[in-house]
Amino acid sequence: MRKAPVLYIVIPCYNEETVLPVTAPMFLKKIQELITKGEIAPASRIMFVNDGSTDNTWNIIYDLSESDEHYIGISQSRNRGHQNAVLAGLMESQESGICDITISIDCDGQDDINAMDEMVKQYRNGYEVVYGVRNKRETDTFFKRFTAQTFYKLLNWMGAEVIYNHADYRLISCRVLKELAEFKEVNIYLRGLVPLVGFRSTQVYYERHERLAGKSHYPLSKMLGLALDGITSLSIKPIRMIAGVGTIVSFMSFLLIIWILVQFFRGEVVQGWASTCAIMCLVCGIQLICTGIIGEYVGKIYMETKARPRYIISDRTYEKRDDDEEDKSIV
Ligand code: UDP
Ligand code: MG
Repeated sequence: MRKAPVLYIVIPCYNEETVLPVTAPMFLKKIQELITKGEIAPASRIMFVNDGSTDNTWNIIYDLSESDEHYIGISQSRNRGHQNAVLAGLMESQESGICDITISIDCDGQDDINAMDEMVKQYRNGYEVVYGVRNKRETDTFFKRFTAQTFYKLLNWMGAEVIYNHADYRLISCRVLKELAEFKEVNIYLRGLVPLVGFRSTQVYYERHERLAGKSHYPLSKMLGLALDGITSLSIKPIRMIAGVGTIVSFMSFLLIIWILVQFFRGEVVQGWASTCAIMCLVCGIQLICTGIIGEYVGKIYMETKARPRYIISDRTYEKRDDDEEDKSIV
């Protein structure tokens, strides 16, 4: 069995002033319990990532960090979205140099924190990645459950490997994070990226509860955006499908041309206005959809070539250990 690791719990927070005071003590209790049991090292921390909140979230995080040394926080220079916030926290943990493992979890208390015990145990048994998988979706509304399940199925069908019913509650060792840091893409979809990094992985099952306070930041429009991002950053199957559709339409057009020629030689060309219009409309529609899908990929390439930073940390509740500075002082 591996020695007790230093754990960093990474928690993205965006306008969570109502829920943070409720869940922060729960995380602290959990980390203290794990330290007392000898499952994790005393240097373990709870890292809040403020994702450019416009409410009091960052002040709350700051106050928490002063109340107990286990709480630390970083703040993004603006809102960049959940995935980037998690990535910022994971990379910051990995760069700390002392962290052995990270667990990312939402701050709204929906994911059962007791699953962390099992996650850490699995790490100590030799696994590098432990996925938290929901065993029930009863607390979600029917609509959310249906869209989420359709999304998972669609992603897998499109050739992107994602774990069914797994969101962003997972343990990743810093060894894996070091490799993940080499995945330089700007359009990040962690659920699809982490399995691509590889290493030994396993799953831990947990129940998902209601949000303890506040409201979800994922309305339908954002969920659709995430779905589209997930598919187009992990798979090129839609472009292949376009080629398939193109082949079928071309074949049908070929048959149609033969029919048109036959009609022409029989002298019945005036008729058929309706069919011509219908076919034109259909083909125009298909072409526009196809152009749109290709456009989506071109847009992705455009964003990737800019290679903008994926996150910018503007504040920390602590001083970052800077290796370069140490080197400079020696010189
Ligand atoms: N979140 C974030 N940036 C955003 C939106 C959300 O960091 O732009 C955080 C949010 O504070 C929460 C987590 O991501 O900790 C999940 O968000 P939410 O609970 O709203 O999503 P849901 O659970 O409804 O899918
Ligand atoms: Mg939530």
